[in-house]
Amino acid sequence: MRIDVVTLFPEMFQGFLEGSLLGAAQAAGLVDIRLTNIRDFAQGPHRQVDDKPYGGGPGMLLMPGPVVECVESVLADAPPSLAASKPHVLMLTPAGRPLTQELVEELARHDRLVLLCGRYEGFDQRVTDTLKPEAISIGDYVLSGGEVAAMVVIEAVTRLIPGVLGDAASADDDSFSGVDRLVEGPQYTRPREFRGLRVPEVLLSGDHRRIADWRREQALSATQRRDRSPVGSDSDLP
Ligand code: SAM
Repeated sequence: MRIDVVTLFPEMFQGFLEGSLLGAAQAAGLVDIRLTNIRDFAQGPHRQVDDKPYGGGPGMLLMPGPVVECVESVLADAPPSLAASKPHVLMLTPAGRPLTQELVEELARHDRLVLLCGRYEGFDQRVTDTLKPEAISIGDYVLSGGEVAAMVVIEAVTRLIPGVLGDAASADDDSFSGVDRLVEGPQYTRPREFRGLRVPEVLLSGDHRRIADWRREQALSATQRRDRSPVGSDSDLP
């Protein structure tokens, strides 16, 4: 998979992309992640990328020219292996479709993603009108820029690429995955007892059927508790 990030702050991605799973996935050729700076497509001595909104209002907007030209240049750079694939352009914005594991699975089916990170008060509408990106939000809150949101998308998508996770089955067992998209129940490792808290007997039984049944029951109750949990309260959570 190839992922291009279009941003004003490529340096924000440095440590993130070198990190363990992503660094290894890139070294193994499973994903190719490129960063392109919108400012490189700005005109004039000050390389201006933003301006005041027409009609007034606070803050600055990203001008359409540098953003659209930057994305067009990224799209034109298609490696021969991806020449036949249609890149999927995503715009990170609070107004977008909420990111869920289901959407992450959809995104992971593409060969090529282009992630468009906003800054300031966001994009001039003509960026959307011209590029027709899929708008994606990582939650109902406002960040200062799309970079952290793009990192969330990259991390969630790349772990679904075959070969990225050490144990291929582990993504299938994760929360929100599988047919019924349950959250994971409690898990335990050594020691068997910690400050008087013992590992449930069933997990030590060696009876795989009982263990699987127990885990499913726990996942069902954790999912029900989470769905019932009032906003702002974690008192019901495990
Ligand atoms: N004025 C915009 C609004 O009210 O929706 C907020 C702009 S925000 C300060 C700047 C940039 O951060 C956005 O263009 C977007 O790329 C990114 N961003 C902020 N919150 C986000 C979220 N919840 N999901 C995805 N991207 C987000």
